[in-house]
Amino acid sequence: MDSTGQERGLDQPGTASAQAEPVISVRGLVKRYGSQQALAGIDLDVRHGEIFAFLGPNGAGKTTTVEMLEGFRQRTGGEISVLGHDPATAGGAWRDRVGVVLQESEPEPGLSVRECLAMYAGFYRAPRDIDQTIALVGLTGKAGTLATRLSGGQRRRLDFALALIGDPELIFLDEPTTGFDPSARRAAWEVVAGLRQLGKTIFLTTHYMDEAEYLADRIAVLSAGRVVAHGTPRTLGGRDHMATAISFTLPDGLAARDLPEGLRPLAGPGPEGSTVLHSESPLVHLQMLGNWALGRGFDLPDLDVHRPTLEDVYLSLTGSTSAKDQR
Ligand code: ATP
Repeated sequence: MDSTGQERGLDQPGTASAQAEPVISVRGLVKRYGSQQALAGIDLDVRHGEIFAFLGPNGAGKTTTVEMLEGFRQRTGGEISVLGHDPATAGGAWRDRVGVVLQESEPEPGLSVRECLAMYAGFYRAPRDIDQTIALVGLTGKAGTLATRLSGGQRRRLDFALALIGDPELIFLDEPTTGFDPSARRAAWEVVAGLRQLGKTIFLTTHYMDEAEYLADRIAVLSAGRVVAHGTPRTLGGRDHMATAISFTLPDGLAARDLPEGLRPLAGPGPEGSTVLHSESPLVHLQMLGNWALGRGFDLPDLDVHRPTLEDVYLSLTGSTSAKDQR
């Protein structure tokens, strides 16, 4: 573990060697619903203090997996260890160590934000300080407001606070920003990043690739019940070795065959008569292109350099047409 990881781990119970153990370990996990196989034997490891994003199209098996990790669903086969216990048989003390933020929740009628948290705090042996928790999720100004009078985004913050009040080591976040406006999403990301600073381990499901890119230390992609790729946002699916697309429109009278010899084999047609170079050395090829164009006295005003985004990689891994269609 790196020094940051050790630092993050300081406020956690257990020894350094216990923290080196994966917080979640899954081997050969299988789930069948009748004759339908929802999970075909998946392996996962989630490390202490990381944000782990679990991505996949609708019906891939994410909720099935998460609910088995939370102990709410029984598996058909395979092994699961969460915080050193099998969730299928773990007791109340284990549950206190796990926080869950569900996609939708109903606020308690007649209770203020602070009263809701005080009520939930009573369920735990060692709850967090109520006002500190309210501050952590950015609801200090709303502490005395009835929970039913909060906006959607503020309710989500209260959900975070309720999941945190028991001071869990591991937090499951299920599509935490679905339906948020852009600034509320950013604010929620800061809350999640703040949880990592506290040394929490976070298991995040999301359909937003920018969210995974911003927050995740590591990502696993599930498709049709199988893990099809795992890695960091930068390396997932070989992203760091994928070709960059350099696109431009040549002036009238010039075609791809007129490009310098070193660029010609990389060139292909792009949309609306443009030319695209598929380059694994974009800086070198941009320099060649620039020298060639400027040497002939013309500019390439629509020049564009596109590195593969996480969404590009995700779509190629899952065969989906658009990540947005999955929302
Ligand atoms: P989404 O992104 O839409 O939430 P998901 O990745 O969470 O999808 P799951 O809800 O885990 O997917 O579903 C995986 C598969 O298992 C789907 O084909 C679904 O129809 C099936 N399934 C899920 N729950 C049940 C159930 N209780 N009974 C029968 N089949 C189920």
